[in-house]
Amino acid sequence: MSAKRSDALLHKRENGYRSLSAEEKAAMNAYCEDYKTFLDKSRTEREAVRYTVQLAEARGYRPYHRGEALKPGDKIYRVNRDKAIMLAVMGSESLDKGVNIGAAHIDAPRLDLKPNPLIEDSEFALLKTHYYGGIRKYHWVSIPLSLRGVVVKRDGTKVDVVIGGEPGDPLLTIPDLLPHLADKQAKEPLWQAIKGEDLNILVGSEPYPDPDEKDAVKLMVLDILNQKYGMVEEDFLSAELCAVPAYPVADVGLDRSMIGSYGQDDRVCSFAALQGLFDAEETLKRTGVCMLVDKEEIGSVGISGMQSRAFEYFMEILCDGQGVKLSHCFAKSFCLSADVSNAFDPNFAETCDRRNNSMLNYGVSICKYTGSRGKGGASDASAEAMQHVRSTLDAAGVKWQIATLGKVDQGGGGTVAAYMANRNIVTVDAGVPVLCMHAPLEIVSKLDCYETMKACKAIYLA
Ligand code: MN
Ligand code: MN
Repeated sequence: MSAKRSDALLHKRENGYRSLSAEEKAAMNAYCEDYKTFLDKSRTEREAVRYTVQLAEARGYRPYHRGEALKPGDKIYRVNRDKAIMLAVMGSESLDKGVNIGAAHIDAPRLDLKPNPLIEDSEFALLKTHYYGGIRKYHWVSIPLSLRGVVVKRDGTKVDVVIGGEPGDPLLTIPDLLPHLADKQAKEPLWQAIKGEDLNILVGSEPYPDPDEKDAVKLMVLDILNQKYGMVEEDFLSAELCAVPAYPVADVGLDRSMIGSYGQDDRVCSFAALQGLFDAEETLKRTGVCMLVDKEEIGSVGISGMQSRAFEYFMEILCDGQGVKLSHCFAKSFCLSADVSNAFDPNFAETCDRRNNSMLNYGVSICKYTGSRGKGGASDASAEAMQHVRSTLDAAGVKWQIATLGKVDQGGGGTVAAYMANRNIVTVDAGVPVLCMHAPLEIVSKLDCYETMKACKAIYLA
């Protein structure tokens, strides 16, 4: 019997478990335990930066200052305004030959507090919010929330706030309407049944004991905040506080094959890009750069987003040290824009083109383009760039699959890819398929997490 003709011609797609060895499975599980710890310690971008610094310093990375001499093998990082971090391992080749970049984002959809958030209504104290990123508002009612972030007081002292989510902490929540009285609300379109202005977090109900005080419930909450953090109401104006789900990360499924947590878009690829660099650091030819950035969920804008020239500044001070022009370095560089894709979900099969959609457990998903309608806003990687990734991952034994974001005209989205490509850096999107992306509980497969880390490592080494 000769080999089947179809084996030679057809593109095979297969569940990654079919070819996962016992050693690889053990390595995958070990990696995923580290990832779960990263998730629990990274509920906001500031927390993600802080924990990344801790991990990097433990491996010998040091903060880099302009003008310091660098030699191959040096491991450095710079923090951008506490909300983004750039790490580099100096390769043996000159920066003139370009660098390999893994770029991911550490911000996630959430409810930010308004600048003047604390109100009293009907003897309840409530915090008014403004949602950040693409949320489905009905996801955020009647779930346990924690409040996290930073308050910079009038005198400049900075205090970290963490309320809820730690053992013994109280929780916060946004109470939804009882079904008995929800006839009218239930008939509203899903997107407006819960309104943005109604996402008010319940934070108190007990009045301050002094009977002469007005708004005594609000005052009681302020009194508690003042005792705990030394803050007064006006300090909310110079604070960044947000509500995020309070429950910890957990395995999902009786087989524990999946991970459920808030904020996996895109901390799952952030950790993969970071650990991939850690694993590649011994043998890098080209310099490896890991960018973990903020503000992707609202367009990669602002000083800590991927569009910020903070990236140019970081790369420029590295290039200056070697007398290399930044534009020459960019022209030869490659970027893996590591961001999640939507995993095929049989409950919503009609939204996806099954043959072109990523599947859970099929490995890291490579995405030629994102965007919406006629690829609007997409980076759209070239055939040559796709070949580079495909052959690099094959050579490294990485399980990968192709991804598109849903059916044509179904919706759409973007990543940091376009902003890297705009800089004259060849860029391809790739990442972990996610079920219920942007929900307060996002689900990924352990196999895909591990393969994405291997993909990032292979790209740094390419
Ligand atoms: Mn993302
Ligand atoms: Mn997103």
